Amino acid sequence: MREKRIEKFANRCFGCSRKPCHFGCPLKNEIRDFIQLVKEKKIEDACAILDNTTVLPSICGRICPHEKQCQGSCIRGKRTRPVQIGRIEAYLGDYAIEHEIPLKKESSKGKGFHVAVVGGGPAGLTCAAFLAKQGVEVTIYEKHAYLGGLLQHGIPSFRLNKTLLKKEIRRILSLGIHVKLNQELGVHFDLNFLEKKYDAVFLAVGANHSKTLGIEGEELEGVYGGNELLENMDHPNYQGKIVAIIGGGDVAMDVARTIQRKKPKKVVVFYRRSEGEMPAEKVEIKHAKKEGIHFLFQAKPVRILGKEKVEKIEYVKTKYTEKKEMKKLTSIKGSEKKYKVDYVIRCLGSCLEDQIQNLNLTYTESGRIKIKENRQTSKRKIFAGGDCADTMHTVAWASQAGKEAAFEILDYLQKQKSKKRG
Ligand SMILES: Cc1cc2nc3c(=O)[nH]c(=O)nc-3n(C[C@H](O)[C@H](O)[C@H](O)COP(=O)(O)OP(=O)(O)OC[C@H]3O[C@@H](n4cnc5c(N)ncnc54)[C@H](O)[C@@H]3O)c2cc1C
Repeated sequence: MREKRIEKFANRCFGCSRKPCHFGCPLKNEIRDFIQLVKEKKIEDACAILDNTTVLPSICGRICPHEKQCQGSCIRGKRTRPVQIGRIEAYLGDYAIEHEIPLKKESSKGKGFHVAVVGGGPAGLTCAAFLAKQGVEVTIYEKHAYLGGLLQHGIPSFRLNKTLLKKEIRRILSLGIHVKLNQELGVHFDLNFLEKKYDAVFLAVGANHSKTLGIEGEELEGVYGGNELLENMDHPNYQGKIVAIIGGGDVAMDVARTIQRKKPKKVVVFYRRSEGEMPAEKVEIKHAKKEGIHFLFQAKPVRILGKEKVEKIEYVKTKYTEKKEMKKLTSIKGSEKKYKVDYVIRCLGSCLEDQIQNLNLTYTESGRIKIKENRQTSKRKIFAGGDCADTMHTVAWASQAGKEAAFEILDYLQKQKSKKRG
């Protein structure tokens, strides 16, 4: 049944010579080519094409923002619906898992080298896989008791099946990657230790610390960070309570929808701009509304009120003023209103955790780890990528950073080897 549907999707592909879908994909998957093989019913060959560029097809096929990436570039989509590339990719990823098709080693260029990867999210897993494919001995250090990063503890299970995630990770690890769980950089070991023990290090620690609101009352009991709530699952009891979510991105939607499942009295999203400008995926906003979540648009929180605990949130209405054709968002004077709430959840973006900010590396103005074009940090042996160092925060972009880093690290290791020889 699924096979037939996938074939039907594949048959809609024009097989464009310019392959815009390939360029729309952060991982540069050879979409046109694997779709052609699906048309020809050569499923194992199609899986092999996909394995050349990605190790997370079952995941990316499901949770990538396809409309902004591959499907957004599909020629079919100009007039009608784009080819359902994500569905085809997920099918192939699932097929490889179900039929136990292993990821293949490609060369032994990296033989004899040892690399540590810190962080077992999409960036770390992908880097580890592409290094292992080249024969490098890789060890992942992960602070939690599990791998997957935000795929496990960020994206809620109602959007991503965790059993499937475990299977995809198992396929990656079967390349012979070593894993050390419950090992936190900055707590159980430091960079010095890694620099001494390994030929190179890849930092893929993410950036899952919620940004602060910068408004009065933020220190009150009952104010939480959305990222931490999802990661630690350390929720208060919401029953009978009103919960304010501040922010309009995907994290805000995931947090709101997670809390809504815990039976609060009401969940209200405060977003300072208009609905059309919300950065969250349209489909997520639609689901949130359907599930009964309330929205206040052009409503900017300015104060949290309460004696010890949160009691109310004060917000102002906003409007757009146009100056020299530039739209500017301003607060409407005298529009202050108070809204009775019990909890306030910050979902305004995320930053590096404290111990990562103190690694004695160089950091960018926006607070990420600064890297050179080859992904090297200010320390020679240490490379970085994914949310901790890059600006595009999606699974596919993090995975691409990991893949790029693997090839840069390999290049670095080989240069070091020839220097020693020379
Ligand atoms: C709620 C939420 C929903 C999202 N939904 C989507 C979506 O639908 N589609 C999409 O494409 N993207 C989504 N994203 C973004 C995407 O998940 C991230 O861009 C991606 O996971 C980043 O990968 P990463 O490997 O850089 O970091 P992470 O996934 O954060 O992985 C970092 C890993 O490093 C570990 N770590 C951290 N510090 C240390 C330390 N000191 N020592 C050892 N290990 C450490 C962490 O435990 C974690 O395992 C979402 C993000 C969030 C927060």
